Amino acid sequence: MIKLKSTREIELMREAGKIVAAALAEIKSLIEPGITTGVLDKAAEKVIRRFGAEPAFLGYHNFPASICASINEEVVHGIPGLRRLKEGDIISIDVGARYKGYYGDSAVTFPVGKVKPEAEKLISVTRQSLQKAIEAMQSGRHLSDVSHAVQSHVEAKSFSVVRSYVGHGIGEDMHEEPQVPNFGLPGRGPVLREGIVLAIEPMVNAGSWEVKVLDDSWTVVTSDGSLSAHFEHTVALGDNGPLVLTSTDPD
Ligand code: MG
Ligand code: MG
Repeated sequence: MIKLKSTREIELMREAGKIVAAALAEIKSLIEPGITTGVLDKAAEKVIRRFGAEPAFLGYHNFPASICASINEEVVHGIPGLRRLKEGDIISIDVGARYKGYYGDSAVTFPVGKVKPEAEKLISVTRQSLQKAIEAMQSGRHLSDVSHAVQSHVEAKSFSVVRSYVGHGIGEDMHEEPQVPNFGLPGRGPVLREGIVLAIEPMVNAGSWEVKVLDDSWTVVTSDGSLSAHFEHTVALGDNGPLVLTSTDPD
């Protein structure tokens, strides 16, 4: 069942979302060749705690860190540690925070220094697909219109969407109903209405959509070793349409 959120709840989720955005801004400022993903993790945790929030991922199913850091062919759920970023890498950072009982969840793929044109294109197409999905999140439209917006944009650019990991409802739990796939035919599933809050998160591969999980039992990689990008926002459907809760822009 989809839990609709009150205006007050959405305000609290906006607070959580701003904290997530601040952590991502801090990470963006630190990313450069030579830095380890572990340093990025600690920096994000510090920002989250400074605002009086808790890192949502730390300890979640025993995940050992506050961010997911997924480099190049890694899709999602990469564990931060001693690995150093190299010029030309791309790195997907996923951050979640819980504040006053509500969650925010957001991800960005960053280039490390100068990256190849294909990597640049993958990042921009993935970011655009999230934007298209947000625009499709309108009262009276169907949930799968959001999914379809991602898939149609990505496939028109000759990339592929990951099937086995999806976006989700979010609120007092990090993962709530409904699931939000990044693929599907339009006009299916629940009708969207005010009070719905979704974490929309396209995961886009430069090659095939197939993925596998590494032996650490967390890190998801593309099966063909191609690059992957990931963008995510927590988005509320309000009276005036979609409202991005994890943006750094003023309200
Ligand atoms: Mg996330
Ligand atoms: Mg998420």
